[in-house]
Amino acid sequence: MNINESRTLVVDFDRTILDSDRLYQDLYHICENHGIGRNLLDPALALVPPENVLFNFFLMVQRSKGIEAAKIRHLVAELRAFIRTKGHRYVFDDVRPFLSSAIQAGWKVVVLTYGDHDFQVAKLAGSEIGDLCHLFTVTSTPKWDQLEIFNTSSVIFLDDNPRDIDGVKDRFPHVVAVEVKRQNTKYQTAHSLKANLSVNQLHWPLRFGELG
Ligand SMILES: [Mg+2]
Repeated sequence: MNINESRTLVVDFDRTILDSDRLYQDLYHICENHGIGRNLLDPALALVPPENVLFNFFLMVQRSKGIEAAKIRHLVAELRAFIRTKGHRYVFDDVRPFLSSAIQAGWKVVVLTYGDHDFQVAKLAGSEIGDLCHLFTVTSTPKWDQLEIFNTSSVIFLDDNPRDIDGVKDRFPHVVAVEVKRQNTKYQTAHSLKANLSVNQLHWPLRFGELG
């Protein structure tokens, strides 16, 4: 895809497209059904490098708590299957109409997400929004580091994480940044200092007449 001459919508995945906190609650329940509770998971999560946040951390749980490898493999397989078959239930209702309208208006959609590659790809597949996404990029570095994307002529960047929004705006002031504040998700009390707009729902067109 040549994104150099496009109007590009760069959309975060977790908590912008997907109600990730609700999904994680249900994944925790699956873990509990396998006898692995929050008292085992949370201390292990704290040990895992930030770019490697879900499937691989079970290896650390296994090592630190001496759980059988086969049991961990079985659990991870069940989590993957759950995400791939039921992930679409966690997509916010406004996402498909929003992205469809943006594409019809001539915008390219780039989903830019931070995290563990396998976990993010599984969530994208489960979300069933691949048909509304021209490019899906998983990064383990700060989002502003995705220079090729942010150097396109017109960019709208949507994210729930104030640090990512401000990091992008500091380096690419021409980017129009939209802070997406979904109900009952992380970052409720932290606000971007540099976003052009803050919304809790996605409607196209956004209120930037000159761009939409
Ligand atoms: Mg997010």
